[in-house]
Amino acid sequence: MIKNDLDKLIKKYKVQPVGTGYIDCILTFENIFDFINDLSNINIIVYGLTWWCHCKDQNADCPHGMGGPKSEYYDGWFSEMWFPLLEFKCNEQVIEYIKNVSNDKKILKCFVPALWLDVPDNWKNELERIDKQFLRIYMPHYLKGLFHNIKK
Ligand SMILES: [Zn+2]
Repeated sequence: MIKNDLDKLIKKYKVQPVGTGYIDCILTFENIFDFINDLSNINIIVYGLTWWCHCKDQNADCPHGMGGPKSEYYDGWFSEMWFPLLEFKCNEQVIEYIKNVSNDKKILKCFVPALWLDVPDNWKNELERIDKQFLRIYMPHYLKGLFHNIKK
């Protein structure tokens, strides 16, 4: 079954879907080409891509973006950038974009890609931490200040 194969790939390549489905599947540049090639082999298409700041302590300029979940596989946490969804027609197009990503000047060194997979809407990913995830959302300092002020 395709979903089982997909869930194995998600584990193999340390992919972290944000939320319960298969959009915003965050992963490293190191794994992205092999992951997409393996998706092609099971006929799953990547139709979109968003960018997240991977905030680690050593990134002095981070966090960028709007906040997000703790990283399941690596140090630090992910913070979503507010760029619009990049849309693609086929997996080759995604690979081509990533290969040339240095041409995209708004992509910073701390950024990691997140892939949106074209699978049925009712498919849920297998990561068990989902229920707890929203208790572990991290926010940039400036947003924390904002919410604090609103509460007052
Ligand atoms: Zn950053």
